[in-house]
Amino acid sequence: MQFETEYSLKPHNSFGFDVKASFWASAQSIDDIRDAQRFCQENSLPLLVLGEGSNVVLVENYPGLVLKIAIQGKAIIKADEAKVWLKVGAGEHWHSLVQWTLDNDLYGLENLALIPGTVGAAPIQNIGAYGVELQASFYSLDAVCRETGELVRFNKDECDFGYRDSVFKGALRDRYIISHVTLCLAKTPDLKTDYGDIKTELVSMGVVVADAKSVAEAVARIRQRKLPDPEVIGNAGSFFKNPIISHEKFAQIQVKYPNIIGYAEGDLVKIAAGWLIEQCGWKGYRSNDAGVHDQQSLVLVNYGNADARQILDIAQKICSSVRDSFDLELEVEPRVYGVGVR
Ligand code: FAD
Ligand code: NAP
Repeated sequence: MQFETEYSLKPHNSFGFDVKASFWASAQSIDDIRDAQRFCQENSLPLLVLGEGSNVVLVENYPGLVLKIAIQGKAIIKADEAKVWLKVGAGEHWHSLVQWTLDNDLYGLENLALIPGTVGAAPIQNIGAYGVELQASFYSLDAVCRETGELVRFNKDECDFGYRDSVFKGALRDRYIISHVTLCLAKTPDLKTDYGDIKTELVSMGVVVADAKSVAEAVARIRQRKLPDPEVIGNAGSFFKNPIISHEKFAQIQVKYPNIIGYAEGDLVKIAAGWLIEQCGWKGYRSNDAGVHDQQSLVLVNYGNADARQILDIAQKICSSVRDSFDLELEVEPRVYGVGVR
């Protein structure tokens, strides 16, 4: 395994922040992960795990080893009449996997098309979009314990999935490195087209009878239209989670803002953080190269040479505005790495 020094992380974080890692390595196997752990223990270095860096805010140079998880491979490990269990290396690109499943007549991931990142990072925040979450197709994952090097299997219940959340963002944060994810996919599609503009998009594509591939294509087209491409404008997708509040609180906000839309989430109500931010006048805001996207206020952007502190400064101001106007606290979604930040 090769350890590079003073390695630029600019191409490895979707915000495009120009920071460096003291050491960098890429893990192609579980043995590589263990070698990296040994290297850190022997040299008393901190370890930061990265997939494709599309959900992180790197505030400054990292004074340790940044380990990219690049484990590849897909294997069908079991099948019955209705389902197929597919084990996938954590370093596989998520969208390529979605395409591969559709090419192989396996269903369940179509609404999750075009989400950036790796398969191994998908369970960390239980990725979700267009009314579907990873957990619907998730079976188990294998992960190396950062303390002992032991390989541990987590089943679905043990991952404690929630809305853009899992045990790996909470109690087991930074405790495991995911090497493989096993999905349970359907042999027959169960299309979910009720969310947002999917149906309208299918019509404009000329689709008369939708199938899983056309749904994935519709989702991809909507996403390409609405969201900034990190290759062109740096961003980490949604910067804040959507608040989930009580019906009582929702009713209070509705008095002042009758146009607010709420979505039922169990006994609670989910409201769009992007809408709250827009009401506070932040849509399209720009200060030097840091800003708020002009089509989706939930996405903070780096137009070129912004650094993480400029983005966090805007984030903080947005949080204050939303607190003042709605008496609500916004929660940052990407993981922020920097001195004094946990
Ligand atoms: P990274 O950013 O590299 O890592 C994220 C976190 O996971 C870090 O804390 C890292 O340490 C940890 N991690 C990564 N890999 C592993 C591993 N193998 N083992 C242990 N820990 C690991 N998210 C959604 O849920 N839905 C969306 O629709 C969506 N759309 C997006 C659109 C855009 C334009 C962008 C830029 C982001 C979007 N995201 C979305 C966020 C992001 O794509 C997901 O969170 C994705 O799963 C991150 O994958 P990654 O490989 O880039 O993870
Ligand atoms: P959108 O369709 O404009 O909707 C705005 C918000 O309203 C979304 O956050 C969504 O919540 C909620 N919403 C809309 N219709 C809903 C419905 N029928 N039922 C329940 N909730 C509904 O959002 P967008 O920004 O274009 O994103 C589209 C999808 O991609 C969303 O699911 C979003 O989460 C996902 N996405 C995520 C990220 C990320 O980084 N996490 C980035 C880009 C897009 P939900 O977010 O809960 O769906």
